[in-house]
Amino acid sequence: MSLDGLRVNGARLRESLEEMARIGGTRGGGVTRLTLSDEDKRARDLFISWLKELNLEVSIDEMGNIFGRRPGRNNDLAPVMSGSHVDSQPQGGRFDGILGVMGALEALRTMADNGVETLRPVMIVDWTNEEGSRFPPAMVGSGVWAGALDLDWAYAKTDVNGKTFGGELERIGYKGPIKAAQWPVHAYYEYHIEQGPILEMVKKDIGAPKGILCLHWYDIRLTGTANQVGPTPMEGRNDALCAAAEMILAVNRLPEKMGGNMVATVGEIHNHPNSRNIIPDGVHFTVDIRSWDDELALKAWDVLAGEFDSIAAARGCPMEKEVTWRVEHSPFDQRLVQRVLDKGAALGYSTHHMVSGAGHDASYMNQVCPTAMIFVPSIGGRSHVEVEETTWEDCENGANVLLHCLLESAGEE
Ligand SMILES: [Zn+2]
Repeated sequence: MSLDGLRVNGARLRESLEEMARIGGTRGGGVTRLTLSDEDKRARDLFISWLKELNLEVSIDEMGNIFGRRPGRNNDLAPVMSGSHVDSQPQGGRFDGILGVMGALEALRTMADNGVETLRPVMIVDWTNEEGSRFPPAMVGSGVWAGALDLDWAYAKTDVNGKTFGGELERIGYKGPIKAAQWPVHAYYEYHIEQGPILEMVKKDIGAPKGILCLHWYDIRLTGTANQVGPTPMEGRNDALCAAAEMILAVNRLPEKMGGNMVATVGEIHNHPNSRNIIPDGVHFTVDIRSWDDELALKAWDVLAGEFDSIAAARGCPMEKEVTWRVEHSPFDQRLVQRVLDKGAALGYSTHHMVSGAGHDASYMNQVCPTAMIFVPSIGGRSHVEVEETTWEDCENGANVLLHCLLESAGEE
């Protein structure tokens, strides 16, 4: 039988996504399924029940990563893998992460329906704590598995209530027996919503990111002089919040100033004492700079730091600048990226070669094995919000591309 004619069952994919969306479902149509919460446990239990229906070999590692393995004809060969995450942001969307897990599941179900035998084993994975919103940072499950992050460091992370990652993992019963350590993988595909507006703008069905942008994080702490706002004249104030305001606008103007591919954002700010009748004396804010060009992003920071220095001096506010995190841009495996484009075209979809502005578990996988991603459009480019939306047709299209990429890679000697 030729495998070219195989198609996933779009209705079944939709049902699975809808059933998952009820776990932690919010009134606004999104989901709150924070990692290692009761909702995460219920989603994991359901996921595993579906893996068992397919007679997959299920295993759970010490990070709570869940794997399902479908044997191939030659099980000495490295498997092909696909998956994403079932956890979500608080009041997040019902497609982010879960689409990649349900899409891979649908591909495996389609193989089972049609009695497909592959040369290599095919594995599905749910990575623990991709979102990082309860236990920062993000992508910890795949990071530990890939050997980039330390297990005990991950276990020790605490949430806002002082609960530890390790303790919560044990509480929900997902501290598995096998070591969270990489094994050889022939190819890793991650299917995901785009989370941006590009595919919609260029009117394309399938996106194949050439890689993930670099990610540079900074923390800025400004000190001002607190005082009663009424009696204190405007001259001579050291208002830390005003200094921050000027700096935030400088961040916003930075990409245009630097030219090239770049986004820059201040997303978090803490103002002390945050009282309407006290001049702010302590402000902490974050800076996030992303680009395909690491050098440009570093240069941008130099420019920005210089501007920050003069603003801080003019406002009389001492400042601390901290380099919090830097991840280089990560080009995916060109062969697999091309395969995503080719399979998409062969299936009759329009395709687009692009970049990914968001980090994914694929970032860590890309460090250890050939990796590519498959994107489908996000309506209005919205994500990490309850109104996050992708059409069922697009969900089905992406799963078909994934199915055929998996079949091709799993048939390679
Ligand atoms: Zn995601």
